[in-house]
Amino acid sequence: MYDITSSCADDFINHEEILDTLAYADQNKENSTLIDSIIQKAKKRKGLSHREASVLLACPIPEKNEEIFRLAEQIKKDFYGNRIVMFAPLYLSNYCINGCTYCPYHAKNKHIARKQLSQEEIRKEVIALQDMGHKRLALEAGEDPVRNTMDYYLECIRTIYSIHHRNGAIRRVNINIAATTVDHYRLLKEAGIGTYILFQETYHKESYLSLHPTGPKHDYNYHTEAMDRAMQGGIDDVGLGVLFGLDKYRYEFAGLLMHAEHLEAAFGVGPHTISVPRLRRADDIDPDQFDNGIDDDTFAKIVACIRIAVPYTGMIISTRENQQSRERVLHLGISQISGGSRTSVGGYCEPEPEDEKSEQFDVSDTRTLDEVVRWLMEMDYIPSFCTACYREGRTGDRFMSLCKSGQIQNCCHPNALMTLKEYLTDYASPETAAIGNRLIEKEVLNVPNEKARKIVLENLRLIEQDNRRDFRF
Ligand code: SF4
Ligand code: SF4
Repeated sequence: MYDITSSCADDFINHEEILDTLAYADQNKENSTLIDSIIQKAKKRKGLSHREASVLLACPIPEKNEEIFRLAEQIKKDFYGNRIVMFAPLYLSNYCINGCTYCPYHAKNKHIARKQLSQEEIRKEVIALQDMGHKRLALEAGEDPVRNTMDYYLECIRTIYSIHHRNGAIRRVNINIAATTVDHYRLLKEAGIGTYILFQETYHKESYLSLHPTGPKHDYNYHTEAMDRAMQGGIDDVGLGVLFGLDKYRYEFAGLLMHAEHLEAAFGVGPHTISVPRLRRADDIDPDQFDNGIDDDTFAKIVACIRIAVPYTGMIISTRENQQSRERVLHLGISQISGGSRTSVGGYCEPEPEDEKSEQFDVSDTRTLDEVVRWLMEMDYIPSFCTACYREGRTGDRFMSLCKSGQIQNCCHPNALMTLKEYLTDYASPETAAIGNRLIEKEVLNVPNEKARKIVLENLRLIEQDNRRDFRF
């Protein structure tokens, strides 16, 4: 039975409730009166239920869809301004004992090169990432309890935070590793991680079981209840996501929002981020074997509907998407993107020889970080390397209440400008620096509080002239 606060996955992601939601959405997808009332509710910027959002997602009426896109764009502007937070993935190890049928790291793939970074190799990777200008990482690893142990992860996190090459520093380490125990989550929290990320892949239990035929990940309930254990272990910033293309997107969409509602109801804080990866071509995997792929229009609609259903939750898009597709959804709700990414183990230091490829998926957006930063600024976005919240203890419900009151904007905007200035001073090409400095000059006038504006101007001067770093609100 559907029970939003239950600790059992079968109750809070209840299959019958999703089927009823999809039937309700189908019956009402052309019900203009209901759709208008849902859009009116969404305009209050307090979010929508999974049922309401599912009606909007199913709606085929062009004028209503235009209104939905406009509202998503406005909510994105109101909550996130024109800032886009930058990050990079760092693959630690692709050893994995699971059998996920859509991922080249599955245990039966014998021809992919298997690697696990040593601490010395991590040092090299992190220096390469710092030299690109990155400040925020998402660690990635397969599940292998013998090789990829919790001790290994903790050591990696310590190593990463300890490296300061020139003016470089990794200031926030997020981590995307297999579902684990409350005790392990507590250790990750104590090690200073930012967000714990775990993609559900699919919320459809039957599909999940067949897509994960072997290994510990086969246990759907253990996997789906991981965020509850993470919260019990003290991690209050968690990142959800599904891999669009595995099952029917409307089912996944409803499941994703039900998961967010569950976390809010059970722990008082919803997900910090939602990622929207789409299935990609990869070694030993042919996406054509999955017949639930979604086109770009549907993808844009999903992003817009998530944006208005959970306005306070950041949305992430990776280099799985190409430049064109990223450009299309940025203004609809995406608040974080990766840039200059390598999806192989050890890929930042040296290109891999053809016969030793270890990447998880083909990167569609292959531009350098400098090119991505310049591209964003040419579209009037402010690339932000800010990591202030977690370092100031603004996590979980503290973060959410600042978000909901709109006060977080007073931090995000100045922090974006100051961290961008660091990037431009230390890492950007002359052309990117010129565009960025003009953007900062213009955007600093948009810091509404006069006292804060003066502080920002002084800090910008100190960054450029006195080589000072790491200012934050
Ligand atoms: Fe392993 Fe994760 Fe790939 Fe599954 S998706 S095979 S758990 S690395
Ligand atoms: Fe993110 Fe906080 Fe920085 Fe805003 S101030 S960009 S919410 S870390």
